[in-house]
Amino acid sequence: MNGFNYQEDRLHCEDYPLDSLAKTYGTPCFVYSASAMTAAYQTIKAAFECQNPLICYAVKANSNLAVLKQLCDLGAGFDIVSGGELIRVLRVGADPSKIVFSGVGKQTDEIEAALAAKIKCFNVESEAELLHIAAIAERLDTKAPISLRVNPDVDPKTHPYISTGLKESKFGVPMNQALRLYTKAQSLTGITVKGIDIHIGSQITQLAPYLDALDKMFSLIDQLSNQGIILEHFDIGGGMGVRYEQEPDFPIDALSDALQQKMADRKLEIILEPGRYIVANAGILLTQVLYTKHNESRAFAVVDAAMNDLIRPALYDAVQAVLPVIAQTNPSERFEIVGPICESGDFLAKDCLINLESGALVALASAGAYGMSMSSNYNTRGRAAEVLVDGAAAQLIRRRETIEDLLAAETNLDTVTRAPLATISAR
Ligand SMILES: *Cc1c(COP(=O)(O)O)cnc(C)c1O
Repeated sequence: MNGFNYQEDRLHCEDYPLDSLAKTYGTPCFVYSASAMTAAYQTIKAAFECQNPLICYAVKANSNLAVLKQLCDLGAGFDIVSGGELIRVLRVGADPSKIVFSGVGKQTDEIEAALAAKIKCFNVESEAELLHIAAIAERLDTKAPISLRVNPDVDPKTHPYISTGLKESKFGVPMNQALRLYTKAQSLTGITVKGIDIHIGSQITQLAPYLDALDKMFSLIDQLSNQGIILEHFDIGGGMGVRYEQEPDFPIDALSDALQQKMADRKLEIILEPGRYIVANAGILLTQVLYTKHNESRAFAVVDAAMNDLIRPALYDAVQAVLPVIAQTNPSERFEIVGPICESGDFLAKDCLINLESGALVALASAGAYGMSMSSNYNTRGRAAEVLVDGAAAQLIRRRETIEDLLAAETNLDTVTRAPLATISAR
């Protein structure tokens, strides 16, 4: 993981020790390294230097305003999937001409807001959506710039829940409907055809699925061009995998080389939509052991973070390393790290070689992507705090949610006394 290291036996984020951070901000707490995010962004930028692509960070991976601001300042555009994410990126000063809008279910108010903001492109996922966007644009006397998300039917060989480019999936339009839909799109008053896009899955570690998809798409692009449909851009999506355990480094340079070679002399602006690649290894989830318990076959450490904070282990069987905040030389026990939630699926890590006792602090590694952004209030647990570290400085970028925050949106019953709430702490 970039940005995290042991200095004098204490785990640090950059130059800030995580045990002091826990004292100041409490646990559970997501901690992000600003320089690790910058480094990952620059790695992509450098690898694709030849194509000079528009890098649209996929906001859903980690949508904290401070994270978005940092990427915006680095020159990133954004890939959004909701009206809420549109508001987030506009709030940090994103250039609308660098925003693309993905997602299978864009709603009327979201489409109107994106048209009003003059975003770069709607990544359209079906004929019905195309017609709906066209009708709204026409009513507002404008034109919606669109790209069709084509489903290239390739197997990204990742977890089924994050495979999106197989023909059985709900995403995109089938290859064999693309020509008809582009022809249709061109005939609609409210539409300007701009490009084509794919996004074949997430946490992809191999090159082959991308190569297959690129071949299929370039042949489709040529077929369209023969029919007089000339596209300005090709958005190859995100999905570049990161190392959680033993995964190899994603072959980012090889992908860029292959793209350059396959693109030949076609004139196309390239767009990328990386999410996980930029933030996953720039963050950890800091948590404290509440209790340890042993049954016949297992040892459990019950920690103050849970599946509502980090759902990847429960949802995707994801494995994230567990790092002791105070370094251990000879760990001898094997623990399952579990949360306080009333579900057997509430585990954060299994079979960890580590010594733990109550009060110990641990970091769940690689929690910068799809951690906080997928968190919930299940069990009426306030969401964790988020802290951004830059060098030796730490900044609270989202305060811990209070119980009052959670109840505020609900009908307040007069008979319910509010008195005890203030005394219940953050989690
Ligand atoms: C989620 C998503 C991404 C980002 O995926 P990562 O695996 O995080 O890179 C990019 N594009 C689209 C359309 C997405 O839905």
